[in-house]
Amino acid sequence: MSIKENLEQVKKNIANAAARVGKKPEEIILVMATKTVDPERIREAIKSGGRIIGENKVQEALKKYEVLKDEDAEWHFIGHLQTNKVKDVLKFADMIHSVDRLSLAEKLDQRLQQEGRSLDILVQVNTSHEESKYGVAPEEAISLIKQASRYDTLKIHGLMTIGLFTKDEVKIRKCFKVLKEIYGVVVKEGIDRVHMKYLSMGMSGDYQIAIEEGANMVRIGTAIFGARNTPDAYYWPSEKTDADRAKQSDF
Ligand SMILES: *Cc1c(COP(=O)(O)O)cnc(C)c1O
Repeated sequence: MSIKENLEQVKKNIANAAARVGKKPEEIILVMATKTVDPERIREAIKSGGRIIGENKVQEALKKYEVLKDEDAEWHFIGHLQTNKVKDVLKFADMIHSVDRLSLAEKLDQRLQQEGRSLDILVQVNTSHEESKYGVAPEEAISLIKQASRYDTLKIHGLMTIGLFTKDEVKIRKCFKVLKEIYGVVVKEGIDRVHMKYLSMGMSGDYQIAIEEGANMVRIGTAIFGARNTPDAYYWPSEKTDADRAKQSDF
């Protein structure tokens, strides 16, 4: 299947899942997870109607951005962000999904102050409690959001999570429910400068479930571009190999 056909299928599935929870298809934002995908294939995806690019590694993203910056696309950063990459990520990112600690929020704020601008961010929560995943622990999320909200260059617009890698749908749903619950608490608390809009959850294997659980932003790679050659362990660094992780999470 071509990228175009895949994209159309994904959009159909999104629309169906959205309909099941009484939402319109356009209420669900599709971020194309483009790690390992070369610029020409990304360009093809943009020409086929993809509007948002989600990259995981700053250096990889910068190289692609050089080639694709004139395309009509938004750039989201969805991977783990090292503090020393803040300056570079701000060269291309329109939104960062993976703010998961105060030191990172602080560094982003410092740099944004220098550049005299603000940035849309999401706070990443580790709802699966897997060591191999980044993100603030669910019980620490509200406190992080409150503290990060004091940096007025950071527009906190929602939450992001990666669901548990498992075939057990109940466990996957649990992750998404946890994120939605935290979202609700943040809204209810009415924290100054925090305007919750996005629940970024769901990937190729679980986006329909995520939408049923309230996602309005999904990040999809494999279902659009096909399987990757580079192991995901490279993008989600940990001591564990993919095989270990697969064992651990019942795949
Ligand atoms: C790779 C990646 C995705 C998409 O994964 P697929 O299973 O290929 O759809 C989504 N979110 C993040 C953070 C990723 O790194």
